Amino acid sequence: MRLLMVRPLALALLLFSLPALAKPPRLALFITVDALGTDLLLRTRPKFKSGMRQLLDGGAFYPYGRFDYAKPRTAAGHATLSTGANPWRHGIVDNRVVDRVTGQPVSVFRDEAHPVLEVPLSVASGGDTSPLNLMVETLGDRLRMSSRSRGKVVALSGKGRAAIALAGRLGQAYWFDETVGKFVTGTWYTKEFPGWLKAFNGRGLADGYFSQQWAPLLPKTEYLGEDERPYEADESGLGRSFPHPLSGGGQSAGPHSYEALASSAFSNDLLVQAAKAALEGEAMGKDEVPDLLAVSFSGTDRVFHAYGPYSWEMQDTLYRLDRALAELITAAERAAGGRANLVIVLTADHGGAAVPEHWASEGLPARRMNTKELAKGLSQALKARFPQVEMTVTQEESDVYLGGKALEDGKADGAAVRRAAAEWLSKQPGIAAAVARDDLYTAPDVAGLIAPVRRGYYPGRSGDVLIVPQSFQVISNMMTGTNHGTPYTYDQQVPVVFAGKGVKPGTYLQEINATDVAPTLAAMMELGAPASAEGRPRTEFFTNGR
Ligand SMILES: [Zn+2]
Repeated sequence: MRLLMVRPLALALLLFSLPALAKPPRLALFITVDALGTDLLLRTRPKFKSGMRQLLDGGAFYPYGRFDYAKPRTAAGHATLSTGANPWRHGIVDNRVVDRVTGQPVSVFRDEAHPVLEVPLSVASGGDTSPLNLMVETLGDRLRMSSRSRGKVVALSGKGRAAIALAGRLGQAYWFDETVGKFVTGTWYTKEFPGWLKAFNGRGLADGYFSQQWAPLLPKTEYLGEDERPYEADESGLGRSFPHPLSGGGQSAGPHSYEALASSAFSNDLLVQAAKAALEGEAMGKDEVPDLLAVSFSGTDRVFHAYGPYSWEMQDTLYRLDRALAELITAAERAAGGRANLVIVLTADHGGAAVPEHWASEGLPARRMNTKELAKGLSQALKARFPQVEMTVTQEESDVYLGGKALEDGKADGAAVRRAAAEWLSKQPGIAAAVARDDLYTAPDVAGLIAPVRRGYYPGRSGDVLIVPQSFQVISNMMTGTNHGTPYTYDQQVPVVFAGKGVKPGTYLQEINATDVAPTLAAMMELGAPASAEGRPRTEFFTNGR
């Protein structure tokens, strides 16, 4: 009798547990923290008490995610995270590419036909406007197609390039414009700001920061190292040490104070408020069709560039982000009707180098590599060797562009010029490798540095000669602050955390590729992977719906 009772119960339990597989979460929260490298996260981890800790302790934590291409940068990184592809497929090789006609760098997401809504292109901050140049499908695009447009896709960021890369072509992207102090979008996405965004912007939250100061959140004993360091940047009127005024040096709230806000830890708090407005305004997480909310925190990257990853400012920005994340996660849980209906991924678009003078002061072979000086030297060397060829030399990060009529018309032997340029560049101090685009696929993969260049190369957009700096070389045309964009672990390695429905918590030490993030989140949302994904779903943390 007892047996008979047990069997139907076991069967019922089995049946009860099965439908979970076919019941996707109502909401996916896709969080990226701009410039949060693995080492930075791990050394800050003991101080996390709130949202970040919830995710690290309660999720599947992969400390060693990796971008496997040579130039980890914001636009490229976000495009890789959203598409599961490397730049050689998605085409977003860097934040800016050089226009071969004008010789000028322009935003990779600039699209004259689809400008920023209500902000003239001439003044819009960043110059990012539309996903036109994103060549492949994002996870958001997949959701829109798969759900026949019932699944909502909203991406928000302090930067256009992050929001656009996450939203893709079929989602909605909103980003903070530092000229107007509001969240904006482009005419690609909509002809009119949605009501919730108008209401949010109408609250004037950005103006409210004008009279505030950024002071340390925790007691001073909680910060490693010194606050005031001579090689930190003094930009946007913020100064180099705490407390940082947010007025931007102006008399009232305006572009200067908006820039100071965007460069401070507080921009992340403002972004959380915007994300909450989007959750509510778009009624996300309210039905059986999953929605995707992507939030990219840019404040961390601005602080990283100005003060470096070991600064008090960086530590403080992460302590504050820890709290802001708790507010965001709580809002997402509420929107989805509980934790059981929510999945979360948190990762980063790239890591970053220490301020080179900081490294050098510790005895590491670091230096600042000035691209303007390098381009000038190259220009002179090429002129001496090819006196009859008029050409322009423009360097954007580690891509060198050679332009001019003779090269365009094919009157000069372009390959010979590019090879000569590569030869000269490879002999300059701090350069580990330089390769002409003509030789990219035939050159030997010296020290494993050329294969990552290939994965980051897109014909017509990447440079004509690609250089790879030696480790500890920081490309920077300024005298202070730091950068990222090399194939070394401090730039390539990022943490990845999956949390929520169906995730077995734990620390997973195997290295995973950044291209695995989108296919894995797709699996968690019970979707096919984005069309051009190179990565694969991580299977080790799935609990089969139970
Ligand atoms: Zn950056």
